[in-house]
Amino acid sequence: MHLHFLGGARTVTGSQYLLETSRARVLIDCGMFQGSPNESVRNRIPLAYEPGDIDAMLLTHAHLDHCGLIPHVVKEGYRGPILATPATIELAELVLLDSGKLQEEFAKRGDRWARRHPDKAAAEDAQDTARVDAVLALAGEGEDRWPGHVPDPDDPESELRSQPAEIDVDLDEPLYTERDARIALPLFRPVEYDVETEVAPGVHATYLDAGHILGSAIIRVRITGEPDAPDRTIVFSGDLGRRGTPILRDPTVLTHADFVVVESTYGGREHEPEGEAVRILAETVRLVDEAGGVLLVPSFAIGRTQEVVWELDRLLSAGKIPQLRLYLDSPMATKATAIYRRHPECYDDETRRLLDTGETPLDFPGAIVVNTSEQSRAIARAPRPYMIVASNGMLTGGRVVGHLRDLIDDTAATILFVGYQGEGTMGAHLQAGAKTVRIDGQTRDVRCRIRSISGFSAHADGSELLDWVRAFVDGRRPGDAGVPRRVFLVHGDPEAEDALAPKVAALGLEPYIPVWHEAVDLG
Ligand SMILES: [Zn+2]
Repeated sequence: MHLHFLGGARTVTGSQYLLETSRARVLIDCGMFQGSPNESVRNRIPLAYEPGDIDAMLLTHAHLDHCGLIPHVVKEGYRGPILATPATIELAELVLLDSGKLQEEFAKRGDRWARRHPDKAAAEDAQDTARVDAVLALAGEGEDRWPGHVPDPDDPESELRSQPAEIDVDLDEPLYTERDARIALPLFRPVEYDVETEVAPGVHATYLDAGHILGSAIIRVRITGEPDAPDRTIVFSGDLGRRGTPILRDPTVLTHADFVVVESTYGGREHEPEGEAVRILAETVRLVDEAGGVLLVPSFAIGRTQEVVWELDRLLSAGKIPQLRLYLDSPMATKATAIYRRHPECYDDETRRLLDTGETPLDFPGAIVVNTSEQSRAIARAPRPYMIVASNGMLTGGRVVGHLRDLIDDTAATILFVGYQGEGTMGAHLQAGAKTVRIDGQTRDVRCRIRSISGFSAHADGSELLDWVRAFVDGRRPGDAGVPRRVFLVHGDPEAEDALAPKVAALGLEPYIPVWHEAVDLG
């Protein structure tokens, strides 16, 4: 039996792992590569497997970098079940339909641009071809790392992969459409937390709370009945949340596995304590109120928006902030909040208690839900002070960009970042203290105040990741039953994975950082 790392290996996006036994092939996550063109082009190369041969797909949670490739794989012939918690299924439907729609819009915009700028478009096509060749070569290097890899002469895909230069990839076409996404939805099957299910012959999966976003799961996979091999347990962390964050239960601590596949987004970094994060939020709201200004919180639609609203509602109830008007300007976040409301089974004790006492912790009193883009533009004319929560969280697109345009040189405005800012994004530039930025092709001075809170992160930080891994060896010795033989570090940029590896080794465990398309034996 072996595990093939098809994404989230030396990158934070594209999570996808193929587990192959003598009797079954199971995919864990099917995420989209996002971010820079060199990373997103990885979505376009031929799949490393025949989708029709996959028995089941297990989905940890509904973020695009974990589920975004599903419609593409279904279009290519996958017909098996996609197993996820009921909340993940609802959120994934929202995410995938939106993703299909965005890709169609993006392709149309690209078409119009190419017609107006044929020379530039030709140059870009050449650049795209070079990018495809480069990632095919990279995938080839990963494949070659595994001694068990034997090219299959009957497999046309393997033939294709060995001739990278001849692949004709049209990057101008949408990877999939909204219709493709809709076709994939009937394949979803609900699974409950903590109940073991045989998902394919000899492959038994249990979904456990990951505390990351609504419905998120750590997946424990038990493999039984392999000829000449003992039973094996592999734990996939998915994305791990933090203890004590609002709304959701804490990540499950597991103690036994033969192999662990753990995310490492914040491998080398620490968040400020939760209390400090809430203190900064309250202070920022008060300052905006005193200055008669505007607070803009760029936020991701799923997870972060609901948590920020929850914290603001708590602060207001506790009398720690004044009641400012709050605009919720993200149609996707509004839909996601409705899904959060429908799944109280995922809540932690505190949120349940609040609901029992008649509180509405997912709502901020008097909040104004902004539906149309006209309403969004009209906010700029509203009497101050007020707050806006708008997506997306890195200022790379969405309604938040319009507000940025209005507020960037306004000394009475504050932009408060509450999440991870990817390298090269507008959010990262502002966070790094940029004095000017380019918006709509114009150079604009940054005169608004910029603040950041990392304590609201949906991801465990370095110490928390290590605590989670430590539980697999605590009180025992390497080699004892249930102590992992190897800990695979995935879903992290190289610096983060490299920072975490020596700490895992110091626990007496063997860390291993797989590269993209590498396969490892689990026998
Ligand atoms: Zn996630």
